[in-house]
Amino acid sequence: MYHPNPTPSPWSVQDSRRVYGIHRWGRGLFRINEKGEVAVSWDESDGRRIEVSLIDILEKAHQESIHAPLLIRFPKILQERLQVLNEGFAEAIEDLDYGNVYRGVFPVKVNQQHQVVRDIAEFGKRWHHGFEVGSKAELVAALGYLEDPESFLICNGYKDRAFVRLTLLARAAGHRVIPVVERPRELKVILEEADKLGIEPEVGMRVRLSTVGKGYWVESSGEQSLFGLSVVQIYEAVEFLRRENRLDCLKLLHFHQGSQLPDIQSIRESVTEAVHVYAGLVREGAPMGILNLGGGLAVDYDGSRTSETYSRNYEVDEYCHAIVDIVKRVTDEADVPAPVLMTESGRATAAHYSLLALNILDVNTPEHPAYPDLEIEDGWNENVSALAEMADSLDEDSSLLAIYHDATFRRDAIHQAFALGQVSLRERAATDQFFWHLLTLLRQRIAEANDVPDALREIEDRMADIYYGNFSVFQSLPDNWAIEQQFPVMPLHRLHEEPTRHALIADLTCDCDGKLDCFLGKKKSRRLPVHELREGEDYYFGVFLVGAYQETLSDMHNLFGDTHAISIDVVDDRVEMSRHVPADSVGEVLSFVEFDPARLVERVETVAQERAKEGRIAQETIEQFVADYRSAIEGYTYFDHTS
Ligand code: PLP
Repeated sequence: MYHPNPTPSPWSVQDSRRVYGIHRWGRGLFRINEKGEVAVSWDESDGRRIEVSLIDILEKAHQESIHAPLLIRFPKILQERLQVLNEGFAEAIEDLDYGNVYRGVFPVKVNQQHQVVRDIAEFGKRWHHGFEVGSKAELVAALGYLEDPESFLICNGYKDRAFVRLTLLARAAGHRVIPVVERPRELKVILEEADKLGIEPEVGMRVRLSTVGKGYWVESSGEQSLFGLSVVQIYEAVEFLRRENRLDCLKLLHFHQGSQLPDIQSIRESVTEAVHVYAGLVREGAPMGILNLGGGLAVDYDGSRTSETYSRNYEVDEYCHAIVDIVKRVTDEADVPAPVLMTESGRATAAHYSLLALNILDVNTPEHPAYPDLEIEDGWNENVSALAEMADSLDEDSSLLAIYHDATFRRDAIHQAFALGQVSLRERAATDQFFWHLLTLLRQRIAEANDVPDALREIEDRMADIYYGNFSVFQSLPDNWAIEQQFPVMPLHRLHEEPTRHALIADLTCDCDGKLDCFLGKKKSRRLPVHELREGEDYYFGVFLVGAYQETLSDMHNLFGDTHAISIDVVDDRVEMSRHVPADSVGEVLSFVEFDPARLVERVETVAQERAKEGRIAQETIEQFVADYRSAIEGYTYFDHTS
């Protein structure tokens, strides 16, 4: 499948580390090994460091007929991330002598896959890590796996009576379930249902802080945010509970400032406001006990460690220390007991857990190194010969920028004339050949020059290759399409070779949004350094940190379905591939849009047989057609080398 490069090169894996920034976003979990391949790495509970090449994993999958595109999951990384978060809070609590504990909950919406819920319930027991759910379906999933009676189950979102009843009965059955009031009317419903069932409820309230967060989801915060109760509504709810003699059920205050909060200062500000609200509720006579600070702990996708949208300017331990410190100071000053600290960190728990491996199928390059071997014909538009002359007479003294502008202007003029039917196809093709030849020469000159105006750098973007990848952005990286979220992308091998080409990566959907054309690094770039494709050799890329939000947000644009997914573990020093979730077949994706695959085969067969009866088509051809139609229905929706 993959043949290592035998050609020696002055390029080293150190250079690749620098180019792809893997040491910055990989956090030691992903690194380049000495073979020039990306390896995944984690610590086992006995302290052993595990390292597995992703190419070895792909080889192993290949042997079992599981081909790219492939989602690779690492349950041990999920465990490691849970540990980092829980130990981060435990250390801060100890360092600052905080008078209570941390209890995390994983928001199921971040990755609802069965194995994630099951693994978090299992690994999380150690720290009493529970779940946050936002719907009845998520509650049903979480209840099915949460066994530890000390782990919390926090219920956010709109709740109908059935949802409320289930939270109450689950509490009666020994689960630590707390419904969080998002709208004032929910409080009444909870009390009514609790009375009917004769169950004493524990209730939380979600507050809309006036502090505005930072980052892409800034609208989830501030007074205008969509969810939660204003301070006035909180006050009214307290008065209502007091009148009903039920203030004793108010146990938790929650807020959520949005996901991916890149700036620690904005986190500090919102925690400060929230803990003052919390202390105020205690003073009003509510028992309280839990302060739930929501999600928002960011992931450093671009590895820049800044307050840019897809980064964060803090580490997990700083986040934990800042929270513990603020809550301690404010509650001490207010003479209020320190609450249980809770966060709903999803992205930071799950992002590193999975990656998408995809293979490159083909390349398109606008490059035209050789002088076009063309006769310019009489009567052709004068701009064609002008472009030819520019390419011919480019010398040391030429002003590259002026030539670039002139050439672009002339080519655009010919394109316009072509659209009006004034230029032949042959003339248009000649124009483009001269134009791209000229740009190829200009690019060579730019590469040699020291001081290049920014306007000329645009040529490098225009001349990027298009590498066609076997995947769908819409299916596997929906946030890249929907909100332009960037994920780290890099080749999985050949990293001891210099990447001599620059490319953007197009997917299989033939949709102009179906591409990766913004790559992370110290400076964002529209092109990724890549290796030249070699005939007969596979070339693989990884798109990393896709474990949060991508799997269930995805859609089936062009009817590309779920890819294969596998989980990787290392047992007794052997790489184990488990929990293979087969990819959707063509028949499956068709049934999602309400086709009946069996009926489709019947219809195709009936029409074909009628034609055969009419003697228009040979019976053998019909049989072959129907057999291929049937096997297409059973096949993979992606490009299949074995087909
Ligand atoms: N809690 C609530 C209420 C949310 O809406 C979200 C997602 O936005 C989260 C937690 C998870 O946030 P994050 O993934 O940033 O940790």
